[in-house]
Amino acid sequence: MPDAATRPYNFSAGPAAIPDDVLQQAAAEMLDWHGSGIGVMEMSHRGAQFGEIFAQAEADLRELLEVPADYAVLFMQGGALAQNALVPLNLSQGAAADYLLTGSWSRKSRHEAARYCDVQVAADNADAPGTIAPRSSWRLRDDARYLHYCVNETIDGVEFEQPPQGVTAPLVADASSMILSRRFDIAAHGCVYAGAQKNIGPAGLTLVIVRRDLLGHALPACPTVFDYGVAAANGSMINTPPTWAIYVAGLVFQWIKRQREGALAGLDAIAARNAAKAALLYGCIDASALYVNRVHAACRSRMNVPFQLRDEALGADFLAGAQRHGLLQLKGHKSVGGMRASIYNAMPLAGVQALVDYMREFERSH
Ligand SMILES: *Cc1c(COP(=O)(O)O)cnc(C)c1O
Repeated sequence: MPDAATRPYNFSAGPAAIPDDVLQQAAAEMLDWHGSGIGVMEMSHRGAQFGEIFAQAEADLRELLEVPADYAVLFMQGGALAQNALVPLNLSQGAAADYLLTGSWSRKSRHEAARYCDVQVAADNADAPGTIAPRSSWRLRDDARYLHYCVNETIDGVEFEQPPQGVTAPLVADASSMILSRRFDIAAHGCVYAGAQKNIGPAGLTLVIVRRDLLGHALPACPTVFDYGVAAANGSMINTPPTWAIYVAGLVFQWIKRQREGALAGLDAIAARNAAKAALLYGCIDASALYVNRVHAACRSRMNVPFQLRDEALGADFLAGAQRHGLLQLKGHKSVGGMRASIYNAMPLAGVQALVDYMREFERSH
């Protein structure tokens, strides 16, 4: 079994790398959590021990993201894709909802929502991929129940630097691939959701952070277990929550709180490291004659860096060489091709440096 020091660097877009420290702690506690004689997977979700794990995870998440008290934090299942239906089922009241389209994931959200409410596209970057339409061009309706957007398009590599400004309707954000990568203004939103398997922990857990005054208006068709109001009233335990995933997410929150980078701590340390990682990788791509990233500089993702080889025939060689160098899962999404390096929180700067060294060497030798 490889130890932490010899594991390869994993650039998967998701399920993605989890910090070595967290995996080691979860492994050490697998058979016996804190002297209980049983592992977390085997505990009742209603017992005192899991209650402690759950309360600590929620408290740490609230602290890290500075979640205001009038927001509920829900630990749900179904992934971000289920939220494409659950957001309109819970928040649209079957009425108007506006959608900003900036890439593959927001397009999916829009299509699913149209089954439940009156959807209008506020702006669409289909004619100019890799950009975000200027705020002045958005078509927003006064009666929209919310404006949905995707903070970071995991496939297209397009990221909002800031939440959209000057929008009257509550903002709803798919934050799956950027949550906890830097500070994020929860209070600017009505609802923020994220699947866990990018930057939080194991697949199977979906976080929903929702302003309490928006609860209680679910459409009759909304399944009870997916009614945000019911979930909030029952502390996310109307049924069995994904206990193991919540526990590992809690370990990740603790790991984030422990991080230091110079004078910076916690999420600020993580954000500084993420900025340095992205700058290193984009710098390498922009300085090269072989690699290209076509996303507009102002909205380049700090988490997912898609890039093409100008000579596409070299792709298979590139990936095989990367594998030999211990650089895994760099193949781009099937819908866009090319390469993609996902550099979430768990990817150390040394991993990005190793990738950049390999990319330069590959370019020299081809
Ligand atoms: C991965 C991802 C999804 C889909 O998540 P699932 O958990 O597989 O449903 C949706 N939106 C974004 C931005 C993603 O990165």
